[in-house]
Order: sequence, then structure tokens, then C-alpha cells
Amino acid sequence: MSSSFNGSGFNDGGADSFNRGKRPNQGLNALDRLVSILSKLPGVGKKSAGRMAYHILDADPSYAGMLAEELAALHQAIRRCSQCGSFTESDPCPICADPGRDHSIICVVERAQDVRVIEESKEFRGLFHVLGGLIAPLEGISPGNLTIGQLMNRVRREGVREVILAMNPTIEGDTTALYLQKVLKEFSAGGINGDIEVTRLASGLPVGGDLEYADRLTLSRSFRGRVKV
Ligand SMILES: [Zn+2]
Repeated sequence: MSSSFNGSGFNDGGADSFNRGKRPNQGLNALDRLVSILSKLPGVGKKSAGRMAYHILDADPSYAGMLAEELAALHQAIRRCSQCGSFTESDPCPICADPGRDHSIICVVERAQDVRVIEESKEFRGLFHVLGGLIAPLEGISPGNLTIGQLMNRVRREGVREVILAMNPTIEGDTTALYLQKVLKEFSAGGINGDIEVTRLASGLPVGGDLEYADRLTLSRSFRGRVKV
């Protein structure tokens, strides 16, 4: 049985605004439309979007062509790993397919980009699981919207002995960690896999912060000093 990450459960946040409704910028000229599209990217305001658009316009037309080609090919070339949910060109992804990694430890993260951040810290040699969001009742995101079912299947199937909860230290991150802790403990008490250790990244990560902005040393320490929950 292969779990699917392509169902409705995935919530990458943000991307929705690109898909909703018809093109919002009819009536604007090509430059305005480009600025408007670029300004929807995270961390890009109207001003930087304008700078980018003029830069593209000033550059050799082949640059715009290359950019367009890469963007158009992105969704064809890259998909979700059917095992862990991170982005990959091959399925399963190189991490899931690597026999040299410790398949008995799964590090659970919110988003696919967290995998890259943790990989860069070179501190972790186990597998990952991308939840596709965090539990946020006010935004209507419940455990059923995340890939928790797939995670439990993996835990059951792969004889996992440790699950590391590496959610960001925010209210939603904590809520999700507590929920996972509970379901994993209940599963562990069922005794099929024996005791599963559930750990959480140690302190050092800024409260309310984002894994993405933690420096490598902080992240490494946080892994080494992870605590049993
Ligand atoms: Zn994978």
C-alpha cells in the first residue's frame, strides 16, 4: 500500500491564492501583471516586485525565456515523495530510498522546506515526514487535513523506534506536537512495535520562530539535545 501525498490533505499555505478565481489583473498591462504576480511571493512586497520586473525587462530576453521555461516545467519535474511528502524528482525521494540512513527514526516537520533546512545542518541521518501544515482550529485545519494517517502507517510498517517532533515553537506547532505525542503514545501502548520514543527538539530555537531562520549551529544543538516527551 502506498500512501498518497497528492490528495486533498496537503496544505502548503499561500499557494492557494494563485489558484483562486479567475485572473484578477485583467485590464492591467503586462508589466503590472508581472509585478502583481511577483508581489504574491513570500517576502516580496510591491516595491521589490517592481524591481524584479524591471530587472527582467532590462535583461536579455533569453533570461525571461529561461525563467518562464523553468517555472512552467517545475510542476512536471517535481512532485511529492509518496513516502515522506517532501518535494522530489524521483519517487521515493533520495532520502527515503537511501539504505544508509536510519529508517527507524522519523523526524516530523511542518513543510517540505523544513527538510532542506534540517538536511543542511547535517545533524540528522534518519527519515522525514512532512505534515503539510499544522493543526489550527481557527483556520479550520484539523488533524484530518494533515498527513498524520500516513505517518502512523509508516510507523506501523517500518518498525520505527523514535519519532522526533520538529515543529516550529509556535502555538500551532505546540498544539500539533501535543496531538502527535498523544496518538503516538496510544499507538505505542498498543505494543505492536514495542516502545516508540517520542522526542521534541530541544530549546534554543526561538519561541514563535521558524526553523527556516534558525542558524545551523542552533539547529544541530537542538537535535543533539532533543528531549523525550
Ligand atoms: Zn521521501
